[in-house]
Amino acid sequence: MNKFEQLGLNESLLKAILDLGFENPSEVQEKAIPLLLEKDTDMVALAQTGTGKTAAFGFPLIQKIDADNRNTQALVLSPTRELCLQITNELKNYSKYEKGINVVAVYGGASITEQARDIKRGAQIIVATPGRMQDMINRGLVNIKNIDYCILDEADEMLNMGFYEDIVSILSDTPDEKSTWLFSATMPQEVARIAKQFMSDPVEITVGAKNSGSATVSHEFYLVNARDRYEALKRLADANPDIFSVVFCRTKRDTQAVAEKLIEDGYSAAALHGDLSQAQRDGVMKSFRGRQIQMLVATDVAARGIDVDNITHVVNYQLPDEIETYNHRSGRTGRAGKLGTSIVIVTKSELRKISSIERIIKQKFEEKTIPSGIEICEIQLLHLATKIKDTEVDHEIDNYLPAINNVLEGLSKEELIKKMVSVEFNRFIAYYKKNRDISSQSGERRERSDSAEPREFNNNGAVRYFVNIGSRDNFDWMSLKDYLKETLDLGRDDVFKVDVKEGFSFFNTDPEHTEKVMEVLNNVQLEGRRINVEISKNDGGGRRDHNGRSGGGGGRSSAPRREGSFAPRREGSGGGGFRSDRNAAPREGGFRSDRNSSAPKREGGFRSSAPRSEGGSERAPRRSESFGDAPRPRRPRRD
Ligand code: ADP
Ligand code: MG
Repeated sequence: MNKFEQLGLNESLLKAILDLGFENPSEVQEKAIPLLLEKDTDMVALAQTGTGKTAAFGFPLIQKIDADNRNTQALVLSPTRELCLQITNELKNYSKYEKGINVVAVYGGASITEQARDIKRGAQIIVATPGRMQDMINRGLVNIKNIDYCILDEADEMLNMGFYEDIVSILSDTPDEKSTWLFSATMPQEVARIAKQFMSDPVEITVGAKNSGSATVSHEFYLVNARDRYEALKRLADANPDIFSVVFCRTKRDTQAVAEKLIEDGYSAAALHGDLSQAQRDGVMKSFRGRQIQMLVATDVAARGIDVDNITHVVNYQLPDEIETYNHRSGRTGRAGKLGTSIVIVTKSELRKISSIERIIKQKFEEKTIPSGIEICEIQLLHLATKIKDTEVDHEIDNYLPAINNVLEGLSKEELIKKMVSVEFNRFIAYYKKNRDISSQSGERRERSDSAEPREFNNNGAVRYFVNIGSRDNFDWMSLKDYLKETLDLGRDDVFKVDVKEGFSFFNTDPEHTEKVMEVLNNVQLEGRRINVEISKNDGGGRRDHNGRSGGGGGRSSAPRREGSFAPRREGSGGGGFRSDRNAAPREGGFRSDRNSSAPKREGGFRSSAPRSEGGSERAPRRSESFGDAPRPRRPRRD
């Protein structure tokens, strides 16, 4: 049996390969072909030029294409006309004994109508340059909405040539369920970004001289106010439901504190630092390796040499004192050819450290903004939907179905879906409804630019305003509230949800006061400065507090206030012990994917079986209250 046969290739391909004169598969072919044949998966393959990448995707592609179906099933994007023609030619060679497969090349500088006509005749595979492809899509000459495979060949070259936009746009025209195979000689940040954005859990193979580990790590920073550090961390975790990360703090104390807070807020986290005994540390590491912990909060010393596969994110909760240490931190991710992200949560005063680090790592950081509540809710919602879709049904459930059907009788499919998803989603939306955005990106006006967001949370009609006065003008939330009430001649509870930032603030009124607010405030001067008020689309939490109190609550929201005021922890403190539910907060396993699906889920779900930092209870027993675990029944509102 020849080696190509062993890879699982069929007769007609083997015959073609014989004609090509290939005797043995190259390394990338040996690695990629069986994987791609075996299942539908996304793949990132890194191999130097000339290592036979075309056949590595071409052979399995030809084998997987349905020759009897004349619809377009695959799109290969390649950087240049030459390559495009070359690949087309190769694919034709590979498929010459397979009847009915048509490959059409689409590239600039040739008649677009002719290319369109060739496609119309039935081309299962289109090999295209991004520019021309985009052109064809714009003119409606091609339909790639139902393709099964998309291959990005020489991805680094394509991005080098400035095709990022085109590629993103083309990909967004393809169905989500397709498989994406990315082939590239190197893995610069842009390629990693594409992979991250458009691929789901890609199999990754690297061949030959490995690109240095750091080439597979992309670096991002998030600029926040110092007081928002923790909230930022939480949001980043919420925005990455599958996060598996090491979070670095500067001191043992901070390490312990952040871990405790995360646990309390329902995340599966643990601390790792030098004050723990060896046994405790071993316990924590064991849980981390076993994926019972998603966020390992660690000091530099304690985390030295951690060698755990598949860490998705390194989070620099605080930058290290010695910037050289940054390298050691970020090296925890992006190992063995995997992609990883190193995140820095940074305040304005530390910004220049970013440039110093850039010089050391010889890579650029990407400045990102903390996702808004809306974005997080969307991510979580889709994550939940996917989770539901991927959930395997244990037929034990059949016994209960009659009773369950009884309860759910009368609900339409649509209602049922809505309700099912809401079981978990309500918690997130409730939390983020009342929590402002915290990005402070260059100039603190970021929340205003956010106002372009299409939806708002302002569900019970309150109007939220942005006003250009803040703590710099010696206001805190109480004094600003008083000032507004006085200036506007409004009643005690007419101004609420006052949220004071340095150079600006937000507040709410009921709509009936809007005209007055706009009219009066925009004509007032404060110490010679004109006040400017605008309606903010980006509602930081539209509604009034329960029981009519008009909140405001001190400006910061990292610890959602009013804990305790309602929501007595139902729950008893047992089991769920170390997560308090006061944060209405999101989190918890519910949404998070069960990455270690092999492990029988601790019923509670994946969340917070989190061993305490003392390395103690590894599996907190908890009652599972609803599917997906987590959500306890929404707390009743007391008002
Ligand atoms: P790259 O991965 O850089 O794009 P190609 O796929 O273009 O490399 O292949 C480089 C050359 O190697 C081509 O001429 C191709 O025909 C040849 N080649 C590919 N696979 C094999 C093989 N298994 N045995 C011999 N030659 C091969
Ligand atoms: Mg190539």
